[in-house]
Amino acid sequence: MFKTLKVDHIGIAVKDLEQAKKFYTEVLGMTAMGEETVEQQKVKVCFIPCGDSEVELLESTAPDGPIAKFIDKNGEGIQHVALRVDNIEAAIADLKEKGVRMIDEVPRYGAGGASIAFVHPKSTGGILLELSERK
Ligand code: ZN
Repeated sequence: MFKTLKVDHIGIAVKDLEQAKKFYTEVLGMTAMGEETVEQQKVKVCFIPCGDSEVELLESTAPDGPIAKFIDKNGEGIQHVALRVDNIEAAIADLKEKGVRMIDEVPRYGAGGASIAFVHPKSTGGILLELSERK
């Protein structure tokens, strides 16, 4: 069994990470963490903690990356919501057993060293849901 612990972060697709970061730091007074490029997902990421959760800004590093494709289709904005789970393997197995459509059936690397798996929007009422486990 697994437990869903909290909203881990909200992922926001942006065209320009530096410019987007300024809104959160200069206007809202939040403090941004360092940036990380996740080559596998063709994305540059910056986390901005907010209380018990975080905002994740995502800028594509390639025109064919998932964030670039999202922006082409929808414009900038919320791309996914991430829920923290205590055991990602158990969560994937349990959701699959319940007939939930997974994008990732095996956990993959997420920014900040998390183990993540995406759940298909067809099974979540229309949102891209990320499950995230952090050790
Ligand atoms: Zn995320």
